[in-house]
Amino acid sequence: MLQQALAKGRLSHAYLFSGPEGLGQEKVLQDLVESLSCSGNILAPCGECPGCRAHAGGSHPDLHLIAPDGGSIKLEQIRALQHVLSLQPYLGSYRVCVVQGAEFMTIQAANSFLKMLEEPGERVVFILLCRSPESLPKTIVSRCQVLPFRPLAPGILQDRLEEEGVPPERAKAAASLAGGRPGEARRLLEDENWAERERISKELASFPEMDGIRVLALAEEWSQDREKADIFLDMALLWYRDLLVLATTERRDLVINCDHLPELAAQAKRYTPGELLRALGIIEGCRSKLAGNVNLRLLLEDVFFTLTKEVV
Ligand SMILES: [Zn+2]
Repeated sequence: MLQQALAKGRLSHAYLFSGPEGLGQEKVLQDLVESLSCSGNILAPCGECPGCRAHAGGSHPDLHLIAPDGGSIKLEQIRALQHVLSLQPYLGSYRVCVVQGAEFMTIQAANSFLKMLEEPGERVVFILLCRSPESLPKTIVSRCQVLPFRPLAPGILQDRLEEEGVPPERAKAAASLAGGRPGEARRLLEDENWAERERISKELASFPEMDGIRVLALAEEWSQDREKADIFLDMALLWYRDLLVLATTERRDLVINCDHLPELAAQAKRYTPGELLRALGIIEGCRSKLAGNVNLRLLLEDVFFTLTKEVV
């Protein structure tokens, strides 16, 4: 659609890319900015003109980026753009203003931004990125062409990943774990992340047999870094969710960790659905405490002990 708009010279003056991260917004944004950076042909950027060279060098004078600064986009950040956006493009065909995390504009910033949207310069394109249009003032959304980015059906994402050379079983698991988000699936498939996921799966499968010494060591290891603890707990939620699916249904096709079906099926036999629900509640509770000022190691010890002892 954007290519057609470029071809017909009918680019809208504002686009809103909406959807959770990892659905291809960054890729589309980069391609569009690359096109608009070319001093010559915006349909097929030449790669050689001053505009293309400036873009490749990461400092195009017609590209203006705004992102949350300390949690919000402030009035000064918007004001700083007002003058420059009224000028003619310097190298490219358009001045491009990209607003990352548009929902984080303060009310004052949003009001000021709205004024720019209402009176756009002739050769200005605004591109806003946000998780959902509902998180922005309606007055802003109504002046943008909204382009929703949605997750792919896991089967379609799996096919894409296989076309890129990912082995089928791994592609299926990654597509399912990522909930159809291509960016997230590719991140998971990076060697280091995949190895970590395999390590976590192994620990989760061995919880019923785990002794106290191992529990303490595991809690120490995963409490080194809050982000890693978060990843572990996310994986634990999906794992126990799969156990619950297997304990209550015959639907193996609904299992997310589909490359670990044998371990999951064996482990599921050891629990009642009630125990699994309780385990999910415990993990979820731990995740919400993680954001607070807690002793991470004690928190993880508590959860891991509960999962090995009481839930068995
Ligand atoms: Zn060019």
